[in-house]
Amino acid sequence: MHELGLCEDIVAAVERRADGRRVARARIRVGRLHHVHPEAFEQSFAVAAAGGPAEDAVAELVLVPVRAHCGSCGADTEADELITSCAACGSVDIELTGGDELILEYLEYRPAPVTTGERA
Ligand SMILES: [Zn+2]
Repeated sequence: MHELGLCEDIVAAVERRADGRRVARARIRVGRLHHVHPEAFEQSFAVAAAGGPAEDAVAELVLVPVRAHCGSCGADTEADELITSCAACGSVDIELTGGDELILEYLEYRPAPVTTGERA
């Protein structure tokens, strides 16, 4: 299941950004070209995050469609899988402009633990 390798990378990025804080929620934008299955993603994230600051965090997966720009007619095509020709004119003179994203978009942290010994 290739989601695990992907999630290990994502969790590593989450932990770097969290910098010791406990993570409650993470939103990750993943291009459709990564062929990520949401259920497998969720399980893999939990496995990869276990024992670290992102343990038990909610992983919000946002799947980004594949996009291509046509060099012949200038149209933009969007699809859930690899685009090999322009949807408008059928030309294969296209350039992929999206779909391979892997972006850690947003992190939400748990409230810091109440520190003792502080006086108001
Ligand atoms: Zn076209």
